[in-house]
Amino acid sequence: MRQLLLKGRKMIYIGCHLSVADGYEAMGRTMRRFGGNTFAWFTRNPRGGKSKPLDPADAEALGLLLREEGFGPLVAHASYTMNLCSAKETTRQNGFDMLLKDLQKMEALPGNLYNFHPGAHTGQGTEAGIAQIADALNRALPESSGTTVLLETMTGKGTEIGGRFEELREIIDRVSCKDRLGVCLDTCHVWDAGYDIAGDLDGVLREFDSVIGLKRLRAVHFNDSKNACGARKDRHEKLGQGQIGMDAMKRIALHPALAGLPFILETPNDEEGYIREIRTVRGWMESGE
Ligand code: FE
Ligand code: FE
Ligand code: ZN
Repeated sequence: MRQLLLKGRKMIYIGCHLSVADGYEAMGRTMRRFGGNTFAWFTRNPRGGKSKPLDPADAEALGLLLREEGFGPLVAHASYTMNLCSAKETTRQNGFDMLLKDLQKMEALPGNLYNFHPGAHTGQGTEAGIAQIADALNRALPESSGTTVLLETMTGKGTEIGGRFEELREIIDRVSCKDRLGVCLDTCHVWDAGYDIAGDLDGVLREFDSVIGLKRLRAVHFNDSKNACGARKDRHEKLGQGQIGMDAMKRIALHPALAGLPFILETPNDEEGYIREIRTVRGWMESGE
C-alpha cells in the first residue's frame, strides 16, 4: 500500500480490532485488504484469559509485512479479565501474570503498543487501586523492553479506575519506567465519562494536556457511543450512528493534537462495515477536511 500522508505531512494510521484466530501474519494481510495500516487484537481470550503460544516464524512474517507496507504501530489489547487492582489477591496475581506473559510475548513484535484497562478496585477505593496498578507496572515493565504500555481512558463505571484524567496521571506519577508508559484515548469512554468531546473538543484536549500531557497520548480508540455524555455505560456505536455524531468524529480525526497517532476502530461492525469506516476516516485525513 502506498504510504498515507496527512495534509499536515504526518502519517495516517487507521485500522480496526481484528481476531488473532488465524495468527499474526494473517491479521496483517487482513488489514491490508481492509485498506488500513494498523490494527489491534486481544493478546489472549478477552473473557477467559487463555493465550495461544506464539509462533516466532509467524511473528517474524508479520514484522516483515508491517515494514514492507509501512504500517504504523500496532495496539495490542489485554484481556478484560486482567485486573491489577482487584480486592481479591488471586485475581490481582493472575492479572500480574497475564501482564508479564503478554509483555514477554510482545517482545517478538518490538516497537508496538500494549493497551490495558487500568482495572476496577472492587471496593478498596481509588487510591489503593492506583497504588496496586502502579506497583504491578513497576514490577512488569523492567522484565521487557520493546513495548510501550498504554493505560486506556475508561468511563468510570462501577469501581473502574481511569474515568478521570487525574487518575491516569497519578498512576503514571508512581511508575519509574515512564519512557515506556503512555495513554490510549477511547473516544466512547471519555464521552461516557463526561468529557464533552462533541461540544468542546479543544477544551477536553487542553485538559488532557494540562493533567496528563499530550506527549503521553500514543493511540486513539475511535468509537461513537450509544449513550449520552456522562452516562458511564460503555456501549460503542458505529461512526456517526451514536450520540457523539459524525461531525464530531470527523473533527476528532482531523484534530492536529491527534495527528499521526494510530486510530483503532472498535465499532460494532462486520467486515464490510470496517472497510467502509476505514475508507471514510482515510478520506477525511488525506484531504484534511
Ligand atoms: Fe479497551
Ligand atoms: Fe477501547
Ligand atoms: Zn469500551
